[in-house]
Amino acid sequence: MNTMIDPAPAPTQGADVTLRRRQSLEASVVRACTNPECGAGGVFHDVPGVNVAHYDPERKDQPVGPICLCCGAERPADEPQGEIWSREYR
Ligand SMILES: [Zn+2]
Repeated sequence: MNTMIDPAPAPTQGADVTLRRRQSLEASVVRACTNPECGAGGVFHDVPGVNVAHYDPERKDQPVGPICLCCGAERPADEPQGEIWSREYR
């Protein structure tokens, strides 16, 4: 008895593989505290002596969250703007 063994399928000739790299930038508006006696910015910073409860160089530019750490007031919600820029490389 003769047994035919099918050879493994050859790689498809002429197949196109396209690699793409994509960079994307998303933005969010972070407002300052609305308490008129406070007005502290909504992100941590690295300026000593200013709004000291938000002084944290390790977390610089990160939002402080829903409560102002300087006065305890509720802060306005952050306003995500979605993707504001993107670029694709081929
Ligand atoms: Zn405040």
